[in-house]
Amino acid sequence: MSADVLERVAERVYRIRERFVNLYVIDVGRIVLVDTGTKGAEPLVREALKELGKELADIRLVLLTHHHLDHVGTAGVWKREAKSTVLVHDDDADVVAGRERRKGKGIGLRAKTLIAFAGVFAWSMRVPPLEPDRRLTGHETIDLLGLPAVVIHVPGHTIGSCAFHLPTEGVLFAGDAVNGRQGSPVPPWFVEDPGAAIASFERLVAMRPRVLCPGHGDPVRNPPA
Ligand SMILES: [Zn+2]
Ligand SMILES: [Zn+2]
Repeated sequence: MSADVLERVAERVYRIRERFVNLYVIDVGRIVLVDTGTKGAEPLVREALKELGKELADIRLVLLTHHHLDHVGTAGVWKREAKSTVLVHDDDADVVAGRERRKGKGIGLRAKTLIAFAGVFAWSMRVPPLEPDRRLTGHETIDLLGLPAVVIHVPGHTIGSCAFHLPTEGVLFAGDAVNGRQGSPVPPWFVEDPGAAIASFERLVAMRPRVLCPGHGDPVRNPPA
């Protein structure tokens, strides 16, 4: 028996670690996914459903924080097999749908090495284009099967990056607008708009949610655990 794939981060919120990237599961009776890992994350999500005693068809909503392949990887599987509704910001939707290509750039010294590394993996992470079911503006509150989630447009890492805030749970899903490093928030090093990325990072950190859930690295707790 393998170790549990679900790590509880709040009452109804779980983290799944897929090597270097995080997926999050919200259990509201049925299931909401926040990001979907690389295409290799499929067995992890299936195992997570089992741990929660859920069926594939319980995955009703898939929220994508942005268009990158390590977050969109299995969204198409759930859309196809579970008839899940996939939501992403309007400014990233055409990239997810394969109608637009977008290039980011690195900030700082680490970036050069990391981008070379990412380039090698980008090809292996490729997934077929996926037509999102709903395009977000970043200025709405959406209903996650009874749980309110405030959508916050946080451009920079990508132009259409979104964070999702669950005010009743004290949880903020930051996508890659914030990275977690040893319990602290750090700004993204790979961006489409550097100035906007810093502003978005500061905006999210200033919210001081009880748990800030980044796309990469450990969740950041306030006050620190
Ligand atoms: Zn990203
Ligand atoms: Zn990422």
